[in-house]
Amino acid sequence: MKTVSHLINNRATPVTENDRIAPVFNPATGQVSKNVALASKDTVQEAIAAAEAAYPAWRNTPPQKRAAIMFRFKELLQQNADRIAEVVGEEHGKISHDAMGELQRGIECVEYACYAPELLKGEHSRNVGPGIDSWSEFQALGVVAGITPFNFPAMVPLWMYPMAIVCGNTFVLKPSERNPSSAMLVAELLYEAGLPEGVLNVVNGDKEAVDLLLTNESIKAVSFVGSTPIAEYIYTTANANGKRCQALGGAKNHSIIMPDADMDNAVNQLLGAAFGSSGERCMALSVAVAVGDKAADTLIEKMSVAMQPLKVGAYTNSDNDFGPVITREHQQKVVGFIDSAENDGAKVVVDGRNPQVEGYEDGFFVGATLIDNVTTDMESYQQEIFGPVLQVVRVNTMEEAMQMINDHEYGNGTCIFTRDGEAARYFSDAIQVGMVGINVPLPVPVAYHSFGGWKRSLFGDLHAYGPDSVRFFTKRKTITQRWPSSGVREGVDFAFPS
Ligand code: NAD
Repeated sequence: MKTVSHLINNRATPVTENDRIAPVFNPATGQVSKNVALASKDTVQEAIAAAEAAYPAWRNTPPQKRAAIMFRFKELLQQNADRIAEVVGEEHGKISHDAMGELQRGIECVEYACYAPELLKGEHSRNVGPGIDSWSEFQALGVVAGITPFNFPAMVPLWMYPMAIVCGNTFVLKPSERNPSSAMLVAELLYEAGLPEGVLNVVNGDKEAVDLLLTNESIKAVSFVGSTPIAEYIYTTANANGKRCQALGGAKNHSIIMPDADMDNAVNQLLGAAFGSSGERCMALSVAVAVGDKAADTLIEKMSVAMQPLKVGAYTNSDNDFGPVITREHQQKVVGFIDSAENDGAKVVVDGRNPQVEGYEDGFFVGATLIDNVTTDMESYQQEIFGPVLQVVRVNTMEEAMQMINDHEYGNGTCIFTRDGEAARYFSDAIQVGMVGINVPLPVPVAYHSFGGWKRSLFGDLHAYGPDSVRFFTKRKTITQRWPSSGVREGVDFAFPS
């Protein structure tokens, strides 16, 4: 059986007998499809050393030349999109239309990175004092690291290293060990595009690899995306070791369904946003807060009908709407949350606990599930389920709905469905959430904005990709210079310069 190893200095490392390995599953069949090597401290050290050795020359490569490699990379990603989507499907389970959407979003981040010569131009002020000019420039940090989750195995690495690299840093990526192959394939395309050896290195692994990245002195910054408990650990450990860190965490994204909403439209939007990718998106809309019983009853009635034709199945059939969840353990966890909601008094209106997927009886499937009468004291409401489950909470007023959202520990995404511009404007102004949609269920910012939640959905100051990522992967240096005219001597002055 194949074992996925690591990429150091643009080459796959050999797998040795002493390497620890973990199984990689095809979640649709429930079978192990390959293994992945889990990097030892020595292997991570080797990757860091390769990145350190590549840094001086890469830092001094003109930004336009660095961007030219990104242009070729973007073309190669487009030419190989089907291959990448296939690998994502096999190890993650998402259907090709969804995998292609994920990849397209990643490609847009590469496009934005191609713009680096413009983004790195800096700021200049002439004559800040007599004969004195001053400017700020944005310099690379050195070797930086990225640690990514399973749910967007192709896209999330592309949030990080294209911009980091084009800004002059060298990079060590640690993808999710549950589905490592798409990150490997995408990195190989960047080598094919002409990236010099050592600029991007990929180590697969678990906590052992991560902990070395968090403590090694050569790593100057860590960008992390994953669940909140791990994000918090990454952020505090990286900070304690003197590193810059951004750590994006989990979510519980609410939509408010106002009584005046176009209900058919809201139902269509909710279907994709709640069940797409089996709900394994950090922007999945997992809670619908209906304002008034009439809106709630209409929503439940229409959703139950609209959910009947939904098809859960293997990624190999593009007619399927969504695939399995990532592991058997996660499948059991999602089903456990449905059980707990029911035991706590909520009503399971559409039950996806035992989906029949012909020919894939051992797959990790959960069908689309709709739960009514959920309340905020229930564990299934408080925690991120990360499965194809939409919970409906009934409230009487918009204020009550907003208070509920603001009280939740997560603040990643949210959306309001309404025809009332005044209500929408008030909502977007006052809601304590980082990414807000008005009749847009998945308000994922485009590549030239930045992505990030509030509260315990993001630890750190700067959001991912877009303009914030240029700031995250560079440090500002401000230079003030005077060239006195010949013959002019400066006098002694003990006052603070003004
Ligand atoms: P995860 O936290 O389990 O793993 C993320 C990464 O951390 C992986 O590379 C993993 O190997 C590593 N890791 C896991 N446990 C670790 C430990 N104890 N010490 C050090 N490193 C460890 O997350 P996941 O299950 O892969 O991904 C799903 C989660 O990610 C969900 O909570 C989802 O909401 C979140 N997510 C958030 C965003 C966002 O932008 N906010 C985007 C995608 C996913």
